[in-house]
Parts: sequence; structure tokens; C-alpha cells
Amino acid sequence: MSKINNINRRKFLEIFGCCSCGLIVSSCTTAPITQRKQLKLIPESSLNRQAAQLYERVKAKTKLSNDKKQLNEIKEIGSRIETAVSAYFESVDKADPTYNFQWEYILIDNDKIKNAWCMPGGKIAVYTGILKATKNKHGLAAVMGHEIAHAVAKHSVERASRALALNLGTAVIDIFSGGAISNTRRTTGVDVPGMLRTFGIDNPFGRKQETEADYLGLIFSSLAGYDIRESVEVWKRMKDQNKGQEPPEWMSTHPSSDRRIKVLKKWIPEIMVSYPAISIG
Ligand SMILES: [Zn+2]
Repeated sequence: MSKINNINRRKFLEIFGCCSCGLIVSSCTTAPITQRKQLKLIPESSLNRQAAQLYERVKAKTKLSNDKKQLNEIKEIGSRIETAVSAYFESVDKADPTYNFQWEYILIDNDKIKNAWCMPGGKIAVYTGILKATKNKHGLAAVMGHEIAHAVAKHSVERASRALALNLGTAVIDIFSGGAISNTRRTTGVDVPGMLRTFGIDNPFGRKQETEADYLGLIFSSLAGYDIRESVEVWKRMKDQNKGQEPPEWMSTHPSSDRRIKVLKKWIPEIMVSYPAISIG
């Protein structure tokens, strides 16, 4: 940490801010399928470890739904996507970006929150509030595919690395030294939402990452055998259900639904052809 603080910020960005710099290959990586260049200064393993701890706290501190049938549907969709993602990367002879994931699914009982997220390493949560918009398994697969895509494309690693490079990352650095979690443990109240935000789970990813998650999410749901045309219907329902209200946080932080629907419609036909359901043995 002190080493980073001592480096002149401009110099640091010159070195690390640009992935075209061939000298520091190890600090750069590319997103799967889209091949977008990404900054990677933080080891994924430590991020996954911290995420797993935070996930345990979420499970302990939030009200989980008793709806076993709904949870089972979430797990079924998740497991099909998990298998399809691994099978796809195997089929194209590429390293499986999820080989070290420990997938887990929870359904949070909160009808007011239209949200879902996937932490680094495959820790997934769906809020009951989003089920009115997803409505069926294809719709739910669209949302879960998007969230899983953030994890598969390692967007949290990228985000944390960028924060570190910009020297904005006190909280982030804290997380990697174990600070955030141990500090929280010392206090009586556990600020789970605050921790989620610090972790970059519950606040917006960049526009490029959101678009990438939409694109990869469609690919993953299609490979898993879901009807990805339903994604457009989900966004229409989201839009209708929010009519006349302030958009919920998730909506306002993601691309606008109109823009999103337009782009999804453009991608869907070509993805259905190029990434059909992968046969899962
Ligand atoms: Zn997203």
C-alpha cells in the first residue's frame, strides 16, 4: 500500500493505466469472448476469498425467502448456465474462466428490491422483487446470465484494479488487507449494503462493462438453452412496472431500458445462430 502511495500518481497511471503497454503483461488481461482489454492488478483469488466471506455475512444478516420452489428454479437455471459456460470454453479450447468458482445461490426475501447480483467467484443472489419482471424461467435466465457474465468477465477485479491505479482505493486496499471485514466485525451493526457497495456489487459497473455483461449474458443463456428473446420482454416489464416512479437504483445505474432493448434486439438473432444451446452430457 505504501509503495503505491509513494509512486507519483501520473507516473503510476502511465505505467498501469494502459493495457497496450507490453512490458507489464501480467497486469493486463482480456475479457472472454469480447477480447476487451482489462487492467488486472489484484489477484482474483484474494477477491474471491473476500467475496465468499461477505456472502456468508449476507446470508446471516438478510431475510432469505422460504420459497423452496422458486429457489430451486434459480439453482436449476444457474446450474445449466454454469455447465454451459464451462462446456463452451472447453469446446473452443480456451481456459474456463469459472474453473475456480464455487457457485452458490440465494433468494433474498425483499419485494421492494428489483435486483440480482453475482459476486466474484460465483456467489449469486436474487431478490424476490425482480421476479415480477422476470416472470418465467427464460426471463430469470436473462437476468442471471447478465449477473453471471459480470463474474465470468472478472469485472470486479477490473474495477478494484482501476480504483487502485487511480489511488482512490483506500476501501479497496482495506479489503485486500482484510481491513473492511475485520473492522466490520468489531462494530456491533453490520452494514451489509455498505459492504456490498464497497465491493462493487451493488453499484454500477462502467458502461462498457454493463454492455459487455448484456452481450455475454445473452450468449450464456442461449448456450444454456434458454429463449433469449425473453430478455427484451423483461426490460419492457421493468419499464412498465416503474412507470411514474423514480427508477430503482438498479435501473438507474444500468443503461436506460430503451437503449438496452434496442441493443438486445440487434444482438439476439446473431447470438441465437452463433451460440445455440450447447449439448450438455
Ligand atoms: Zn450489470
